[in-house]
Amino acid sequence: MISPQLTDFHIHPDYSIDAKGSIEDYCLVALRKGLKKICFTTHIDLDPRRVEVDPFMRIDAEIKRIEPEFLQRYYDEIKTVQARFRDEGLEVFTGVEIDYFDGVVDIWNDFNSGLKFDYILGSVHCIDGIAFTWSKQALECYNRFPLPILFQKYYQSVIALAKTNLFDCVGHLDGYRKYAADAVGDAINHPPHELLREALTAIKEAGIGIEINSAALRHKTGTTYPSEDILQLAASMQVPVISLGSDAHQPKGLAAGLDISAGYIEKYGLKWRPRL
Ligand SMILES: [Zn+2]
Ligand SMILES: [Zn+2]
Repeated sequence: MISPQLTDFHIHPDYSIDAKGSIEDYCLVALRKGLKKICFTTHIDLDPRRVEVDPFMRIDAEIKRIEPEFLQRYYDEIKTVQARFRDEGLEVFTGVEIDYFDGVVDIWNDFNSGLKFDYILGSVHCIDGIAFTWSKQALECYNRFPLPILFQKYYQSVIALAKTNLFDCVGHLDGYRKYAADAVGDAINHPPHELLREALTAIKEAGIGIEINSAALRHKTGTTYPSEDILQLAASMQVPVISLGSDAHQPKGLAAGLDISAGYIEKYGLKWRPRL
């Protein structure tokens, strides 16, 4: 089985409007850093409540409202580089990071014209359509939803996500910590264990698992999403780790923190079950 720190399965190329660097740029950096498998996971944000801010893609250096033909271009571009880099010892996979909301499966199936992505990461970024992962809305999110409500709504979304059968893996579990340090304080690090257990059980029963996402390093909220506490609980419940991800938004961020994430697999005895 591939060693976890040689893989990065959460990467945003410049098709994502908040990212820089072409698919080829990332592949070259991956080779230089000695990675063996990488997967691109551009944002697919289709929540109808967020139609003015979310559903965009960068195409030919312009920000455009996302269209199926743009998704096709993204997919085709990855396919084009695959053969070239495989010869050099790097496997490159097609993936997407789909924002989870109630009703996303039907909207995604209508939108996607039959492209078979290798890997579908499902992430919760919003509470009732308000993004805690976006600097412009995070505060509004913490103000509007007292912590017990925020935890409840977040983990219920994770449970629903797990039950859809669409996703291979849950992205950055406990990602609500991103902008919470000042607004909420340490309480953000202590979601109710009962709720966590319920979410982790749903993930396990769905036959999927979690990623260990090292963007927390960049966000200065510790080292990984989820936190070490949650990883420890996941280990005790035998919830598998499906992937590691840097969540890089520019090539120099590729592979950042993978050594730490891989170290937690060892430290807590987590099950490493890569899909690819
Ligand atoms: Zn995300
Ligand atoms: Zn991401």
